[in-house]
Amino acid sequence: MVDCIIVGSGLAGISAALTLKANGKSFLLFGSPNLSEKIEKAELIRNYPGLADVSGKDFVKALQAQLTAAEIGIKNEKVAGVYAMKEKFTVMTQEQNVYESKTVILACGVESVKQLDGEEAFLGRGVSYCATCDGFLYKGKTIAVFCTSKRLEHEIGYLADIAAKVYLIPMYKDVEISRENVEIIRKMPKKIDGVKRVERLVFAAPPTENIPAELPIDGIFMLRECVSPAILVGGLQTENGHVVVDRNMSTNLKGCYAAGDCTGRPYQYTKAAGEGNIAAHAVSEFLK
Ligand SMILES: Cc1cc2nc3c(=O)[nH]c(=O)nc-3n(C[C@H](O)[C@H](O)[C@H](O)COP(=O)(O)OP(=O)(O)OC[C@H]3O[C@@H](n4cnc5c(N)ncnc54)[C@H](O)[C@@H]3O)c2cc1C
Repeated sequence: MVDCIIVGSGLAGISAALTLKANGKSFLLFGSPNLSEKIEKAELIRNYPGLADVSGKDFVKALQAQLTAAEIGIKNEKVAGVYAMKEKFTVMTQEQNVYESKTVILACGVESVKQLDGEEAFLGRGVSYCATCDGFLYKGKTIAVFCTSKRLEHEIGYLADIAAKVYLIPMYKDVEISRENVEIIRKMPKKIDGVKRVERLVFAAPPTENIPAELPIDGIFMLRECVSPAILVGGLQTENGHVVVDRNMSTNLKGCYAAGDCTGRPYQYTKAAGEGNIAAHAVSEFLK
């Protein structure tokens, strides 16, 4: 069991990892090799102390070099659930691996695409966030997949192997997936609807020749880079989608901390880095 599991490899997660390393703590840092789309995509960063006018891509390179020099590796796995047990946390990933830690730092950012109406209400009743966890439930069925990032396309392929029909609603350009049973719908859905379970996806604008007003579906997968922390961690206190924290970045769950965009505005690199640092020091104190 490690001292801490950090969920997210943006500025908040990286800052927490560097501080935990300096404090001599063991930890796992979950995220992606290119760290964060929100760093990568920034054209020019002007407000990060010490780095005048740096591009997002160069910032990523500098951070990667710093992690390598500190011998900090990134676990390229997506955390699907964090479970607070009595004296430890169990963390499950979409890759079906299970890890244990004494503490957790949530540094998972925020998703800029809003939740769909009905998404929370039908969670576990046709709405899923994890293709590899729940895909098997839809063998031979009709599903929709709402996907915000090209990086998650492999999950669509996985679902297309199981389901009979997949309506793909991509929130990104240049979709590469081409499968007979995958139909691409370029229209924002209005809500997920049904009675006991998900039954249909409803679209806002009037029906067009290709897209009807609603699509009958058995389930929908919401594939996002960042899953809402409240969905990730059962019992976690949130307010308007942000994790509620105190000045030590402690959440309402003992041993669970949060840092960065997921704790609220302003969404800024320096705030994320500062909060990651505070959370790591709080973890070190807690472990004493
Ligand atoms: C285009 C753009 C330009 C910007 N420019 C500026 C700027 O100039 N100055 C500034 O101060 N701010 C800027 N920002 C805001 C800044 O990007 C964010 O405030 C900052 O990235 C927040 O850092 P974070 O670590 O909290 O989250 P993020 O950077 O969003 O990182 C979160 C990470 O966690 C990972 N993750 C999420 N869920 C999971 C999970 N379940 N399992 C594993 N990993 C997970 C994500 O993949 C991501 O890698 C910009 C944002 C954008 C989009």
